[in-house]
Amino acid sequence: MARKPIIVGNWKMNKLRSEAEEFMKGIEAYLTGEEKADYGIAAPFTCVDVCVKNAKHLIVGAENCNQKDSGAFTGEVSVPMLEEIGITYCIIGHSERRTYYNETNEACAAKAKRLFASNITPILCIGETEAQYDAGETADVIKTQLHGSLAGLTAEEVSRIVIAYEPIWAIGTGKSADKDIAENCCKLVRDTVREMYGEKAAEAVRVQYGGSVKPNNIAEYMACPDIDGALIGGASLKVDSFIEIIDATK
Ligand code: 13P
Repeated sequence: MARKPIIVGNWKMNKLRSEAEEFMKGIEAYLTGEEKADYGIAAPFTCVDVCVKNAKHLIVGAENCNQKDSGAFTGEVSVPMLEEIGITYCIIGHSERRTYYNETNEACAAKAKRLFASNITPILCIGETEAQYDAGETADVIKTQLHGSLAGLTAEEVSRIVIAYEPIWAIGTGKSADKDIAENCCKLVRDTVREMYGEKAAEAVRVQYGGSVKPNNIAEYMACPDIDGALIGGASLKVDSFIEIIDATK
């Protein structure tokens, strides 16, 4: 079964609403809806409604959510709140959230379950630190994160999730992973999904590579059999470079 590639920009803590609107208009003017891949962005909470309002072909995602529906959780945003705005994807477990805000695999599993209940597709991020990479622990880290973060999901849900393999040493460093390393790790993600949930889920799940993906290197990742797309930080912030990315993956 052919998997539809999915390329998503993660804006992180960038863009005012006016800038988000300008970006959406710039990209939408370029897209025809005939593209072979899904393209989208994940925006800060203050921008998501502007993005949804201006989206025709682009997917609009959030960068985080809380697993509880409501309650005394100051500063948090729930899945029903995202659903109300029209969000269809949500990043969970990004390494920046794991590192700075103690987001655990257990929290990711709860968030994923809650997102699926609202028909919002989770983009689950996993990946090892540089020290873990140097120590040869990458495969163990990937497997542990997947076992913890996918716990409690059905095979059908896992077949619809997006998993972004993002080695932390490649994020924002300009030091992108060699394409063979990226392919091997994305293949390991798929093999682990196969062990946990069977062939159908493994063949359907879309696996992205993330970490210093740029217009000039995305094509070589996309040519890898187990890489179905990319999660892109810095290069997703400007209309011009996002259009170059679209051009490189059409
Ligand atoms: P960069 O593309 O800036 O390395 O960021 C990657 C990332 O963290 C996407 O989620």
